[in-house]
Amino acid sequence: MTGGREILTFPCQGEFTKARACLDRLALDYAVISPQPGFSRVGVDSLVLEPEARVSLFREVGAEVICSGWVDYQPTRITAPTDLPATFPEDIVGAVSIVVMAPCIADSNKIRLIVHIAGNLSGVFPYLNVEMPQAMYVRETETFTYMDAHRLVTLYPQRITLAKADDLVDAWHSLEKIRCRANDTWGRRHSLAPNWEMRQKPPAMEIYKRLPRTNCGVCGEKTCLAFALRLRNGEVSPLLCAPVFSEEHRQLRIPFLELCSSLGLSTLPPFQKG
Ligand code: SF4
Repeated sequence: MTGGREILTFPCQGEFTKARACLDRLALDYAVISPQPGFSRVGVDSLVLEPEARVSLFREVGAEVICSGWVDYQPTRITAPTDLPATFPEDIVGAVSIVVMAPCIADSNKIRLIVHIAGNLSGVFPYLNVEMPQAMYVRETETFTYMDAHRLVTLYPQRITLAKADDLVDAWHSLEKIRCRANDTWGRRHSLAPNWEMRQKPPAMEIYKRLPRTNCGVCGEKTCLAFALRLRNGEVSPLLCAPVFSEEHRQLRIPFLELCSSLGLSTLPPFQKG
């Protein structure tokens, strides 16, 4: 962290423009971190400012500006490429919009994002599954999960979740790689034999990080790690960990449910099934 400043991002350039105009009107200091030109298809201009300036900004604009979130600002080690982003004859990703940015649950120095896309990735999953043997594809839930170095990426038909990115520019870099990989693979699909089989599961440690880690025993296991291992093997229901659904651990609930969904595990109570 540097000087306690924060970075704010937006779902589209128009929301950034409105926020910036307001900061100018209020004569508040800020800096702009830009994805131009290399990451311009996956990110928009974002603001770096003091927390007090953010509070003043939202007090002024009220409900007129949609912000995707803010996290502590950390200088990035990545520079946006000077070349324009690649284009593809068939763009199955389409427009990309970061709709949520927040600190990571497991490590508050990292960030997580929820990203909506205008295209649809379902068709490319069986082809990515051929080319990325370390990924986990679950055909039933239409999810494709893999590690991009230390970052956890899950692709859904019209959504991407990214956890443990170093900073916003690092996240743009990962998203641009996803965009290029999905479109490139889709362009070569006629030369690939699709594979619908699940080949890998996420490490038990990724499940463990999304549990309360209190070793309370409510699930019937002595430790949360033991429960994570059994969950990974599909031997127990996610619902057995009641604490993760409690108010006390509400920040874990969505990341836990998302990972269970990518494992193909049902998180519906029995009476809701079918
Ligand atoms: S119930 Fe949840 S928090 Fe308690 S030991 Fe089991 S996994 Fe851990």
